[in-house]
Amino acid sequence: MNMCGNIKNIYYFCTLKLSNRNKIMRNIAILGSTGSIGRQTLEVCAEHPDLFSVYAITANRSADLIIEQARQFHPEVVVIADETYYEKVSEALSDLPIKVWTGPESLCQVVTAEPIDMVVTAMVGFAGLRPTVAAIKAQKMLALANKETLVVAGQLIEGLCAEYQVPILPVDSEHSAIFQCLQGESIARGCFPWLANDNANPEKPHYLDNPIDKLIITASGGPFRTFTMEQMRDVTAAQALKHPNWDMGAKITIDSASMMNKGFEVIEARWLFGMNTDQIEVAVHPQSIVHSMVQFSDGAIKAQLGCPDMKVPIAYALSYPDRMPSQINGKLRIEDYAHLTFERPDLERFPNLRLAFEALAAGGDRTCVLNAANEVTNEAFRRGQCKFLQMAEVNEKTVAAMPFVASPSLEDYFEIDAEARIKAREILGL
Ligand code: NDP
Repeated sequence: MNMCGNIKNIYYFCTLKLSNRNKIMRNIAILGSTGSIGRQTLEVCAEHPDLFSVYAITANRSADLIIEQARQFHPEVVVIADETYYEKVSEALSDLPIKVWTGPESLCQVVTAEPIDMVVTAMVGFAGLRPTVAAIKAQKMLALANKETLVVAGQLIEGLCAEYQVPILPVDSEHSAIFQCLQGESIARGCFPWLANDNANPEKPHYLDNPIDKLIITASGGPFRTFTMEQMRDVTAAQALKHPNWDMGAKITIDSASMMNKGFEVIEARWLFGMNTDQIEVAVHPQSIVHSMVQFSDGAIKAQLGCPDMKVPIAYALSYPDRMPSQINGKLRIEDYAHLTFERPDLERFPNLRLAFEALAAGGDRTCVLNAANEVTNEAFRRGQCKFLQMAEVNEKTVAAMPFVASPSLEDYFEIDAEARIKAREILGL
């Protein structure tokens, strides 16, 4: 991937898309509005009712919360994916002019509605893949939190973004940090398809095309950063769910403790920014103040700093290329931080991070298999059916046991995901 361009073109692209519709207000659809990212996205929308209108919200089973959200935000459509809860939600909202849909297909349908300008993908796990693909095909701007989509099918998503000329704006704090560091710089293409024809000047020396040496993704290290293997052997889900700096959904909190989350972020960065695997590094930074960095070819490093508050990257993705003033976002007092430290990750104590690098380097379906195995082991650990260190062991064995598929299609990914889950459960003895 060596195509380059200037990121300022995103500005032209986004403003063009909006000015075509001759409006300032963005209609937002939030997939997974009842989760941690979804709820914070609604808080950002509530702070700026002149800029955002919530067109659609979706949940899987959180019926009471989505009813409450619908009464507050008056969306056009509410989707409750699990059909068991359809009657409850539709009855509770029957006095309002809100359409209530159900079933997994509704998630794909709702994102295609003509008035929607931006889809926030805040669902967790592989389940986010199909609706994300539907949103790209409907040419909606994406604010992507659902990293599993890029972990599973990054190459396919990158291709679709190019085909449908759809931008992906990162919500993950590390990727938002990198994205902010890249403002005004030339970048590799990745999920920014509209950059393809930039830098067309044949006079320009070729070495100016690629100014990025590497991306440095920071990691808090999680609650077990200083634990020995022996100490990690018997840690419980309750301990792992206590993240030192971030308040997140259960699945990602466990992934943070095992550092699989950081591995997934490496994969996410590879596809978002069109980097080679050897251009992405991880630095453990326990204070979680520097959200990530970019090192350039002249030696300069740019970093983005802030409080660990997801509303900041969410707001930036929603309002890009503008920044919105905020009373609700956490504001950093730099004088409170006398020491910011950085260290190399320990791949022996946190083998999931090694597995993610290996899967990315191997290519094909390996990251899809790793994600499927991890969804199984993560859930099993939360249910007390698997030990903490066993998660990475089973993930590794599952990847080794599955045949390699070099160029999976979208439908192949669904088969591979299902088979890898069966294999992981078998290895776990479930
Ligand atoms: P949560 O578990 O808090 O929320 C997940 C949301 O997805 C809920 O609304 C849930 O509905 C919905 N959902 C889950 N499964 C399905 C399904 N099968 N069909 C339809 N909807 C479903 O997750 P988070 O908000 O923590 O994370 C969301 C995504 O964002 C993840 O991919 C995560 O990695 C990423 N992310 C999260 C960060 C954070 O701070 N939380 C930071 C950066 C990235 P219900 O409530 O009904 O279960």
